[in-house]
Amino acid sequence: MADPKGFMTTPRQEWPRRPVEERVRDWDEVYVPGALLPIISKQADRCMDCGIPFCHDACPLGNLIPEWNDLVSREDWRAASDRLHATNNFPEFTGRLCPAPCEAGCVLAINQPAVTIKNVECAIADRAWEEGFTPPRPPDRLSGKTVAVIGSGPTGLAAAQQLTRAGHTVAVYEKDDRIGGLMRYGIPEFKMEKRHLERRLEQMRAEGTRFRTSTAVGRDVPADDLRTRYDAVVLATGATAWRELPVPGRELTGIHQAMVYLPLANRVCEGDLEVSPLSAAGKHVVIVGGGDTGADCLGTAVREGAASVTQLDIYAQPGAGRDEDIEPWPTYPKVYRLSAAHEEARDLRTAPAADADARLFAASTLRFDGDDSGHVRSLHLIEVDERRQPVAGTGRSLPADLVLLALGFSGPDREDGLVDQLGLMMEPRGTIARDGGFATNVAGVFAAGDAARGQSLIVWAIAEGRAVAAAVDRYLTGSSRLPAPISPYDRPMAV
Ligand SMILES: Cc1cc2nc3c(=O)[nH]c(=O)nc-3n(C[C@H](O)[C@H](O)[C@H](O)COP(=O)(O)OP(=O)(O)OC[C@H]3O[C@@H](n4cnc5c(N)ncnc54)[C@H](O)[C@@H]3O)c2cc1C
Ligand code: SF4
Repeated sequence: MADPKGFMTTPRQEWPRRPVEERVRDWDEVYVPGALLPIISKQADRCMDCGIPFCHDACPLGNLIPEWNDLVSREDWRAASDRLHATNNFPEFTGRLCPAPCEAGCVLAINQPAVTIKNVECAIADRAWEEGFTPPRPPDRLSGKTVAVIGSGPTGLAAAQQLTRAGHTVAVYEKDDRIGGLMRYGIPEFKMEKRHLERRLEQMRAEGTRFRTSTAVGRDVPADDLRTRYDAVVLATGATAWRELPVPGRELTGIHQAMVYLPLANRVCEGDLEVSPLSAAGKHVVIVGGGDTGADCLGTAVREGAASVTQLDIYAQPGAGRDEDIEPWPTYPKVYRLSAAHEEARDLRTAPAADADARLFAASTLRFDGDDSGHVRSLHLIEVDERRQPVAGTGRSLPADLVLLALGFSGPDREDGLVDQLGLMMEPRGTIARDGGFATNVAGVFAAGDAARGQSLIVWAIAEGRAVAAAVDRYLTGSSRLPAPISPYDRPMAV
């Protein structure tokens, strides 16, 4: 804390976003390049170096936030990078994508805007790459043990990096043609440019991690083969079995799951396709689902040139501030948030039927109507109360020739046969069952990330990857010095 009065003299200032009109014409990240570094040391100076830093507790990775805030305020970037990487394998991902529970838990947030912790993290991570503070760290010696990691999302990548660095020989199996999980084909380029992912993968390859793409374990390689060929197996297959919307008209063409639509748009950015076959260009788009996946569809449809885009959220519009009785500080509150995509929709008035930012709250879909060729043309909805009961007289229609379903995910996708081939026990809610040491019912097979925790966040996925790596290392060698930031039973801070 270079300036003990920083929090009184410096107002919170966030990384500025590019003008809406400019950024919706490309797929680059929404932020003004180079605009973070000039402001960030003063922002880090707002940190009070609390005796009990709740920011640190609110972060599943246990990030050493006051320490690196202090180092950034003194512009000691190398030491800041060391402290940041001590707890987080991929801070350039979380620095861009995390909803920042640490900021909700920041002590300063009790009576004024929180420290811009996420921006500080991103600045350190980017600076570390620019200055070469993050060279590959191959192990000094090999253990002779082998590990197969199945799935290359943030969980699998964090587990693989930790285990490789501990000296084990690690191969990551991925059924997609590229590495990255939901960060590759789910999350759009404008939230995180894929070059950040490529740079980490290069580092991991140089450390010795091997990658096998286009290989679905269960379908292309029998799961039992891997069990016998490797000393341990980590299942990090994610939770991508999507929820359906069983209403009349669902069978019409033009109604797609978000995770069918978003990967195609990402493939355009990768250069695989010139135009997405599901492009929203010129179409009236309705997104059913008010979460982040829906917001990603919104930003994508706007960039593709949709005629209109409306997002339906079944929940009532949250308030501007936290409800201290239900979600007191330092929990992560459900409040009205304006993501970059919502800001764009608001400024461009993409949703004539919505008052502000493209969202219609407390809206439940009743049915779809189509034209003679069986293509969707409109969506009928009704307002619902807090018990999701229809409010009489509030039914109405929206024009819709592309409908995107973003209703969340129920658990791991079982189509590849991996779960059945291994004879894995499952939890009643559909996730892979595991004990307190991340072990499944099958000897030598561990489970982590969304596949076992259920749909979550990248910061939890990285924490799961680090923790399962420690459990596997202990299983292989009898003890482990790898950090385990969470247990399988840890959950976000709540009352
Ligand atoms: C559209 C979208 C946007 C999101 N945005 C954010 C965000 O902004 N911030 C945030 O914190 N979180 C976000 N999330 C959530 C976050 O992406 C996930 O919580 C996180 O990616 C989970 O990581 P994971 O490694 O456990 O699983 P995943 O990222 O799902 O990776 C699992 C991988 O396993 C592979 N796989 C599955 N089965 C097999 C098999 N049999 N053989 C080989 N490979 C297999 C899959 O192809 C996939 O690549 C978003 C999610 C979605 C859907
Ligand atoms: S809670 Fe906020 S002010 Fe306190 S140490 Fe953490 S970032 Fe700094």
